[in-house]
Amino acid sequence: MSQPTPDVYEEGRGMDAHNEVMREVRSRNDESYDPTEPTRVWLDEDNTPDGVRNSLTIILNTGGCRWARAGGCTMCGYVAESVDGGSVDHETLLTQLEACLEHERNNADEPAGLVKIYTSGSFLDEREIPAETRAAVAETFADRDRLVVESLPDFVDREKLRTFTDRGLATDVAVGLETATDRVRHDCVNKYFDFADFEAACAEAQAAGAGVKAYLLLKPPFLAEPDAVADMKRSVRRCAGVDGCHTVSMNPCNVQRHTMVEELYHDGGYRPPWLWSVCEVLEATADVDAIVVSDPVGHGSDRGPHNCGDCDDRVQTAIKDFDLRQDPSVFEEVTCDCEATWEYVMREETAYNQPLVG
Ligand code: SF4
Ligand SMILES: [Zn+2]
Repeated sequence: MSQPTPDVYEEGRGMDAHNEVMREVRSRNDESYDPTEPTRVWLDEDNTPDGVRNSLTIILNTGGCRWARAGGCTMCGYVAESVDGGSVDHETLLTQLEACLEHERNNADEPAGLVKIYTSGSFLDEREIPAETRAAVAETFADRDRLVVESLPDFVDREKLRTFTDRGLATDVAVGLETATDRVRHDCVNKYFDFADFEAACAEAQAAGAGVKAYLLLKPPFLAEPDAVADMKRSVRRCAGVDGCHTVSMNPCNVQRHTMVEELYHDGGYRPPWLWSVCEVLEATADVDAIVVSDPVGHGSDRGPHNCGDCDDRVQTAIKDFDLRQDPSVFEEVTCDCEATWEYVMREETAYNQPLVG
């Protein structure tokens, strides 16, 4: 893992300042959550290296992310949904898992081929998910085609991944890299690791016969729209060039509760990205040797990625279509007058005059 330099920790400066603000923002949250219920569970479909599969997505309610306890990332509200007091034991996690399976039995004709497990933290961090729970998850889903688990790069370890791959399960680790640019990851996202750590995690996953899905963040705070788009185009290419990273999920930032992004948003200093920007990145990187997808959460709303209000649903449909077919011509079919406004923003918005247009 990368070593932060001493000045990063200088009191009230750099990462220390970000963490201080984030701790204060988060401390205003007084909601608590039931540890026997998963945070969320849903069924949909997703593109995998073996084709499109029905997918069961599970967000387990765990003790939450260690980094978020220190302050954490500027846009991340997931920790607000974690259980108070730190940890959730094996039995309770199994109760959550059972609730997810029941949801699937009640809502799907057959078990999904793809299962994705997120934890609002790191599934491979044994303080969040003990080894025995990991083994139970592997056993529960051994008959599925593919499993995706989320983890920060530090916890990606070949032995842990062999819990799954030894059973013949195609396995991927979803890594919240956010951007390939270290400066943007450190200063705008307040994430502590480096691109080199991501590359090391990809190598570790490959050693266990697993793959990596990189999650990127379009438009963290402090980046203007054109800079954010340029950063994503570069990042998609760099990720696709790393051995073992077969999928890039490039997701537009949305305004989550109890975050620094929300503070900026309320003070007129942040606008989520345009959906045209999502299209622009997907179109410009369609030739890379990786699956590139995007899932604009909260599209069309003021707190989510949005255009003018008229075209948001149509543009979202084109993006979802691209996700499944990887064909950039889907974007030729959608147009709207607000493209001219977006083009103006792309020409004129800078970090110090943003947001230029609401
Ligand atoms: S984005 Fe990930 S690493 Fe950052 S605070 Fe949220 S859960 Fe933790
Ligand atoms: Zn429009």
